Amino acid sequence: MRFTGHTWPEQLVATDVLMKNYEVPKYPTAYVMHPTYYTVMTPLAEPKLGETSLWRFTIAQQPGDTRSAEELAHPDHLRSLPRPLEYEIIQASLYRIHQRLATTLRRGRCLLAGDAAHVNNPYGGLSLNTGILDASALADALEMILNEGRSEELLNIYSQERSKVFQKFVDPTNTYNKLRLHATDPETAAEEDWYFKALNSKDPAVAQEMAAPYFDTWPTDMRKLAAKRGL
Ligand SMILES: Cc1cc2nc3c(=O)[nH]c(=O)nc-3n(C[C@H](O)[C@H](O)[C@H](O)COP(=O)(O)OP(=O)(O)OC[C@H]3O[C@@H](n4cnc5c(N)ncnc54)[C@H](O)[C@@H]3O)c2cc1C
Repeated sequence: MRFTGHTWPEQLVATDVLMKNYEVPKYPTAYVMHPTYYTVMTPLAEPKLGETSLWRFTIAQQPGDTRSAEELAHPDHLRSLPRPLEYEIIQASLYRIHQRLATTLRRGRCLLAGDAAHVNNPYGGLSLNTGILDASALADALEMILNEGRSEELLNIYSQERSKVFQKFVDPTNTYNKLRLHATDPETAAEEDWYFKALNSKDPAVAQEMAAPYFDTWPTDMRKLAAKRGL
C-alpha cells in the first residue's frame, strides 16, 4: 500500500495571536490572497469590537525555504511578514501540506479512514469532515456485515467509493481552494475566476449548483450502494 500524491513546496506557519478588534468582520473566517504569503485568518474566540481576542493566522511561507522550524516560526521572522499592526504572538508552529491518498483503504481486516486514508491542504474545511464521512460510511458497512450478516464485499465497496470521492471531489476542489489564494491575480479574480463570480452571484440557482456536490458527491450512502449491487 502506498500514500500516493504530492507534498506542496511551501510550508505553513499557524500562529495564534492576540489582536485588538478595531472592527468585527461580517464573516469571521477570511482568506487573504497573496502570491507567496497567502493567509487564512479565523477567530479562536468570539471577536468583540474594541476588545482583544485570540485569532489564528495561518501564513504560507516561501516555496522551498529550507530554514528550520525554529527560524520560520520565530517572532522575528513572523514580524517581517504582512501582518496586523497590533498583535501579540501566543504560539506558532510550522507544518507541511500534502495531497495524498492511500492506494487502497482495505487490506484484509485492516481498514483506513480519515487522515490515515488521505491528507489534503487546510483550505475549505475538507479534511476533518471527509474523515467523518468516511467513518459514517464504514460504520454502516460494518453494521450491515456484523449485525445483518451481509457480504464482506461491502468493505471493498467502501474502499473504492471513498477513494473515488477523494479523487473526483475532495482533491480537485481542495487543490483549487489553495491555488485560488496564490496563483490567481487578486486584481482580476472577481471578474475572471468562475468561483468568485459564482460567490458574488445573487442567483439562488448558482448557489445551489455550487453546493450540490457537498450533498450528492461528498458523502457515501452504503445502504443505497448495497441495494444497487444486491449485497
Ligand atoms: C494546524 C491544522 C489545522 C487544521 N484545520 C482544519 C480545519 O480547519 N478543518 C478541517 O476539516 N481539518 C483541519 N485540519 C485537519 C484535521 O485536523 C485532520 O483532518 C483530522 O484531525 C484527522 O482526524 P483523524 O482522526 O483521521 O486523525 P488524527 O486526528 O491524526 O487522529 C489519529 C489519532 O490516532 C492516534 N494514534 C496514532 N498512532 C497510534 C497508534 N499506533 N496507536 C494508538 N493511537 C495512535 C494519534 O495520537 C491520534 O490521536 C487541520 C490540521 C492541522 C494540522
